[in-house]
Amino acid sequence: MTRFPTDFPTHFPLAPNATIGLVGGGQLGRMSALAAARLGYRCHILTRETDSPAAQVSHAVTISDYSDPVSLRAFADAVDVISFEFENVSAEGLDLLDSIRPVRPAPSVLRISQDRVNEKTFLNGAGVATAPWARVDSRQELDEAVQRLGLPAVLKTTRLGYDGKGQAMLRTPADLDAAWDRLSPKPLVLEGFIDFDREISVVVARGADGSLSSFDTVENRHRDHILDLTLAPARISEATDQAAQAIGRRVAEALDLIGLLAVEMFVDSAGTVLVNEIAPRPHNSGHWTIDACPASQFELHIRAIAGLPLPPATRHSDAVMKNLIGPDGMALWPAALVEPGVIPHLYGKAEALPGRKMGHVTKLFPRGALPGDFGIEAALGRLSQT
Ligand code: AMP
Repeated sequence: MTRFPTDFPTHFPLAPNATIGLVGGGQLGRMSALAAARLGYRCHILTRETDSPAAQVSHAVTISDYSDPVSLRAFADAVDVISFEFENVSAEGLDLLDSIRPVRPAPSVLRISQDRVNEKTFLNGAGVATAPWARVDSRQELDEAVQRLGLPAVLKTTRLGYDGKGQAMLRTPADLDAAWDRLSPKPLVLEGFIDFDREISVVVARGADGSLSSFDTVENRHRDHILDLTLAPARISEATDQAAQAIGRRVAEALDLIGLLAVEMFVDSAGTVLVNEIAPRPHNSGHWTIDACPASQFELHIRAIAGLPLPPATRHSDAVMKNLIGPDGMALWPAALVEPGVIPHLYGKAEALPGRKMGHVTKLFPRGALPGDFGIEAALGRLSQT
């Protein structure tokens, strides 16, 4: 494709006061912009929303649709490097941005993570295990996929699914028609149901020189398909931990990633680790790193895309992160401000709609002192109430 003439090339490492363009205006962009500011960089946000969480704490904002070439070009011209917290930019949009300024991680990485079929094909090709899966493009292919994978199974849209949206659980053959009617005509993928023991994740940063920094494996607990708690570190065997860490590193290397990557995994009852999905950006299961690590996932994200050295992703404390979701989450905010030892974070969103991530809290424990399940409830005090 045509490369547009640029009036200045980007030099890495980015000099102090350089401008980082971030696509997406949500809380991940907000916390990335705060980390960038501490390192002496400015952020310019591209978002559809007015008054977005990220723009509230940034130097500049372009408010536009993610597909308008005029706005994309103006945004790219105004920054030194481009990254994102929102992954669903069109392929053409990404190529346009990348023709003007470096996009990190590269557009090729987003094309993989944006689409569950591309993602699973890539992961399996890199020797990384996933749930058994089949692409489903017609009602007949759904029957064939169910024959092959058995029930229960989970039918998902290949694109734009998050927090359990765009998916249906299939328990019996009677569930197929309703699931098909609800999710088609979008391209779909059927996944075998994993009767997991735990859900875990690894967040890893990779620099342009191939250096890797990987945070400790954490355990994630969901409620209504939305992340509720992250426990750091995950309470898993040494072998499972090593397997999860090796997968995180392998995926980052296979993607030739420059930036940050979260890998969400299931651990089944036999201790086998299977990847559910990957996200080449900061991740909700890494929010605890702001309070429990000398350098957070957001700092590592900014360092990686700016070409700065990556420090080791060390953890000085054990931690529990709890999301504050929707009106129920906001009802806990007064308690979050007074509960002893709880570190509160609020994202600046105007309306507490059901299911919307409004903020989170982190509770720290000395290393090795993360309590057992009942202890977690007690440690969160009034915040364990939802
Ligand atoms: P996803 O949108 O793919 O991250 O799925 C959201 C949640 O649904 C996951 O965190 C799991 O709790 C559950 N889930 C998704 N896929 C499967 C699967 N194949 N087997 C069992 N549970 C699943």
